[in-house]
Amino acid sequence: MDTQRAEVTAYVALGANLGDPAQALREALQRLSHAQGVRLVRASSLYRTAPVDSSGPDYFNAVAEIATTLTAPDLLTALQAIEQGAGRERPYRNAPRTLDLDLLLYGSAHIHSATLTVPHPRMGARAFVLVPLHEIAPRLVTDGALKAVSGQSIQRMRSDR
Ligand code: AMP
Repeated sequence: MDTQRAEVTAYVALGANLGDPAQALREALQRLSHAQGVRLVRASSLYRTAPVDSSGPDYFNAVAEIATTLTAPDLLTALQAIEQGAGRERPYRNAPRTLDLDLLLYGSAHIHSATLTVPHPRMGARAFVLVPLHEIAPRLVTDGALKAVSGQSIQRMRSDR
């Protein structure tokens, strides 16, 4: 019997605003690409944004498209392990963080559990999610959605990859 699960396309938002955030995002993408059951399909450019609902220095953000054989809860666990590996601490809610990984979309699934809400509930309100998501998956982000966040400042970093 073939027990291999089919791959699901998922989108992950990455954010960091402490230490060397650009390096933290590059390392997180590396770790994501090496995680068991995860294949990195493409990653957006890095973007620089002012903190929203948070504090501290500017954030660096990106979005990655992955193909995964993990279930959504197992994928969340894998993302949290990568966050922990980056030395993330949670002294208080929305504190500045070395690395934040959010599961935006998992195939076409709608999930409402105690630990996971997908699609991510706040993704539609955040330029730092919608702009990089639009870069790599334009059909997932409408012009209207982009327009709704056009007042939020976001700067695409020149690629040095
Ligand atoms: P945060 O501090 O923003 O990284 O939030 C992490 C918490 O949000 C964890 O306890 C997760 O269980 C929960 N959570 C709910 N939905 C999601 C999601 N789509 N992606 C990441 N974390 C989620």
